Amino acid sequence: MKKHNFSAGPCILAPSVLEKAAAAIKNFDNLDLSLVEISHRSKSFVNVMEQAQSLALEHLGLENKGYQALFLQGGASLEFLMVAYNLLQSKAAYLNTGTWSSKAIKEAKMFGEVVEVASSKDGNFNYIPKNFTIPSDVDYFHCTSNNTIFGTQMQEFPETSVPLVCDMSSDIFSRVLDFSKFDLIYAGAQKNMGPAGTTLVVIKESILGKVTRQIPSMLNYKVHIDKDSMFNTPAVFPVYVSMLTLDWLKEIGGVSAIEKLNNEKAELLYTEIDRNELFTGFVANKEDRSPMNATFNLVDDSHKENFDVLWNEAGINGLNGHRSVGGYRASMYNALPIESVQVLVDVMKELERKA
Ligand SMILES: *Cc1c(COP(=O)(O)O)cnc(C)c1O
Repeated sequence: MKKHNFSAGPCILAPSVLEKAAAAIKNFDNLDLSLVEISHRSKSFVNVMEQAQSLALEHLGLENKGYQALFLQGGASLEFLMVAYNLLQSKAAYLNTGTWSSKAIKEAKMFGEVVEVASSKDGNFNYIPKNFTIPSDVDYFHCTSNNTIFGTQMQEFPETSVPLVCDMSSDIFSRVLDFSKFDLIYAGAQKNMGPAGTTLVVIKESILGKVTRQIPSMLNYKVHIDKDSMFNTPAVFPVYVSMLTLDWLKEIGGVSAIEKLNNEKAELLYTEIDRNELFTGFVANKEDRSPMNATFNLVDDSHKENFDVLWNEAGINGLNGHRSVGGYRASMYNALPIESVQVLVDVMKELERKA
């Protein structure tokens, strides 16, 4: 039997997606060739790319609104740099909510002034700062919607006149938002969409072309838009599996249906974290808790050995917290069934009985 996979990334994928992906490795589109040994410019693969792009825009409600969807390489980490390269002329504003935000800020500083509008570093990023002010003279505002490592999620996004840029790597396609408020959204595939190796970038085209610097072709969003994400050989397998996942999401009712399920999973686990006196949540304010990544600790570390044995015996994978936080992290991405969360909750109750 397959494990209950709470891995923070690369993530769990739907069984039907993995089956189709495995089949395509052997024989893709009845070509008697593998997906990974045909030209990316063949009709079969161009169809995949076009479908992946249009499904991404459809799920976000951004079709025919001046947005382009790109599938690039280099991970979300390269977007930290590309965003600034393409958009930062003199000054940009950043909200610092964790490790990934901090890394984005570090890269942006190479291109201009960075105003850190607020930071939750003082609490080891266990909350989302609120009531900050975004200067009106910045080129854009950047935030991270879901902090994968610390388990916090932004529930509200600021109203601002400057372009809104968001790293949605770990909660893209997990909840309904008014995505048209955003001018650039990026997400590494491997948290909620597919295998590592491709990054979805959704850009409102009108925000480009405003910086005066020369931009190398591979780092230039305009070049990738003009070449339909085929300026160079795209990551064919990760793009295909992402397309399958987006298709699967559509079949099960889309983002609003998965949001409902994600909230049920989160409710189930957080209720147990709050009820069970052996455990304590990491996030300071309940309203900042992420339904995607639940971070929690044992109140008394003497139970660690027993707990670790119990969840391993129950077939759970990937529950250890990130090294910068410690404790435990249950990542409950779209494809994780609620039954797996129930198994974890049962293990927590069992530990309580045995303690
Ligand atoms: C994992 C992660 C990243 C880094 O993604 P890579 O694809 O490994 O570069 C960036 N931002 C967030 C929010 C993440 O969860």
